Amino acid sequence: MKKGKGSVRWRLVLIYFLLVFIAMVVISVFLLNRIEAYQLSSLQQNIDSTVRESGMLNTLSGYDLKSDSAAIQKYLDGGFSFTTEEISIVDADLNVVASTNSTLVGRSAGAVFDAGIITSVLSSGNDEVLNSQTADGVNIMNLCYGISAGASQPKGVVYVRADLTDIHTLTIESRSLFIRATILALVITVVLGFILATNITEPINKVTETVEKMSKGDFSTEVPVRSNDEIGQLATMFNLMQGKLDATMGEIQGEKSKLEAILKYMADGLIAITTEGEIIHINRAARKMLGINVDEEIGPNAYESFIGHLSPELELGRVLNNSMEGETEFNFDYGGFTFAVRYDRFASEGDSPAGVLILLQDITERQKLEDMQKDFVANVSHELKTPLATVKAYTETLMDGGVDPETTDHFLEIINSEADRMNRLVKDLLQLSRLDHKQERWNIKEADIISLLSLCVEKMTPIAAQKKQALIARFSHDERVTVAIDKDRMEQVFLNIISNSVKYTEEGGTINVDAIKDGEEIKIKVIDNGMGIPDEDLGRIFERFYRVDKARSRAMGSSGLGLAISKQIVEEHHGSIEVTSKLGEGTTMTISLPVVTHRGIANIE
Ligand code: ATP
Ligand code: MG
Repeated sequence: MKKGKGSVRWRLVLIYFLLVFIAMVVISVFLLNRIEAYQLSSLQQNIDSTVRESGMLNTLSGYDLKSDSAAIQKYLDGGFSFTTEEISIVDADLNVVASTNSTLVGRSAGAVFDAGIITSVLSSGNDEVLNSQTADGVNIMNLCYGISAGASQPKGVVYVRADLTDIHTLTIESRSLFIRATILALVITVVLGFILATNITEPINKVTETVEKMSKGDFSTEVPVRSNDEIGQLATMFNLMQGKLDATMGEIQGEKSKLEAILKYMADGLIAITTEGEIIHINRAARKMLGINVDEEIGPNAYESFIGHLSPELELGRVLNNSMEGETEFNFDYGGFTFAVRYDRFASEGDSPAGVLILLQDITERQKLEDMQKDFVANVSHELKTPLATVKAYTETLMDGGVDPETTDHFLEIINSEADRMNRLVKDLLQLSRLDHKQERWNIKEADIISLLSLCVEKMTPIAAQKKQALIARFSHDERVTVAIDKDRMEQVFLNIISNSVKYTEEGGTINVDAIKDGEEIKIKVIDNGMGIPDEDLGRIFERFYRVDKARSRAMGSSGLGLAISKQIVEEHHGSIEVTSKLGEGTTMTISLPVVTHRGIANIE
């Protein structure tokens, strides 16, 4: 901070200086004049009393001024020779008849004295005083007293000349004394003024310094409080304000970082642009969605290259225009993803538009789910429609009559099997719905999974035998592996998996069933050498209604819900179900389930 001559400190010193200077000058002029006037008036009074009160005028009025000059001179010499002033007696003809200054006696008063005041006193009778200067430059006071001659005009004058040199010298000395005093006072004033001004301005400078630091974000320095006066109070208040400001700034900073964290970690993409199209903020999610690197710098004119090209609806001009009319929403597809966009303007102070906030949501998954839901409804309707159409057609034919009993039986069988099929489908759908809504009643108990698996193999053996398939249980039936299961649901899973293998394996094929205990897990494998599943379908066979060969599966009375239900059941048991398959070579389904291990007494046994 610069402290030039214009600073408050120097201005204060200058003001003090001028005040003291003016005061001293006024006082000295006034006092010097008073002293001089006093000296002059007391001198005049002295002379007045010498001339008047001594009875000089009376005595002189008794003399004849022309003839008694010697006697007058004697009178003067006798009574007034000691006076410092020069006393002369002048007659009406302006001749000096006697004088304490012998050199003047006999001379013409007009030549040595001021003739003007003598003639004035002689004509008016009033005494006169006049200050003048001699030819040598000596200041003198001339006093002229009329010597009365009864009622008529004065017959002469007493002319007194007093030397004013002393008075003048005193005045000059006094003046130089005043000048010296003034200089001293000014020096003291400057020093004291400087100290005082420093005392006043220093805390202000400290405040200024602190404010300067505060403007750079440093709130640590406090202004020292040295007194309890106005300046001390200013410092206290300032420190208080700084504390409050610090706290407020802290709060704002906290809010800011909170907001930044929210923006950073929010799942939706957020982009803020100005009304000129400059990108002022783009959060991490938005970068990820648009494939922009986290560290990549985004230039001021990057809108078109980063965002504008994604969809015609995102062109800058269109976005700016639409945002003025309020919130705008739309969806668009880009790079295999579906995005929902919402944007609206944001205002700065005074409600003037400052820019546009664009919110991007990756709704690909949601869209997929919605699509799946739509497909599901379509599938259900379709699956029901086919058997219903068959039932209706056969029923109508029967109702028309004229069908022989054998054909009637056959038709009724078909109607029955279609009804069964619909029944199965509805049952499966209901079960899925219960599983989805967590409404399936579970009866989970510890049970031996090996015996359950043997039972299922046993149940499926005749069906496999119909296709001349060998269904081989390759595990030891004596082994016991305890698993917490709902027996009925798990049986449903095993039957579904084995029946799939039977269904999708040609006549004479082989289906092996393994049960391998692997640590705290039991893996049940159903391995067939059937038709296999193409790679592209492998990932989808657990989806509802998904069948590799729809027509063929449907002909076999399959709806494509079996694996979806099985997967959900296994997962409810904290297990997993996996498939590996090779087209034309066979398929292996693996169900893994956690084994119950009893710690404590059972283990020690
Ligand atoms: P559902 O079980 O409802 O009667 P589905 O057997 O067709 O009908 P899923 O059990 O869910 O349905 O099986 C889905 C699809 O996976 C089947 O349609 C079939 O194409 C394929 N698949 C399942 N298991 C095998 C397997 N062992 N070999 C070949 N393909 C299989
Ligand atoms: Mg099946």
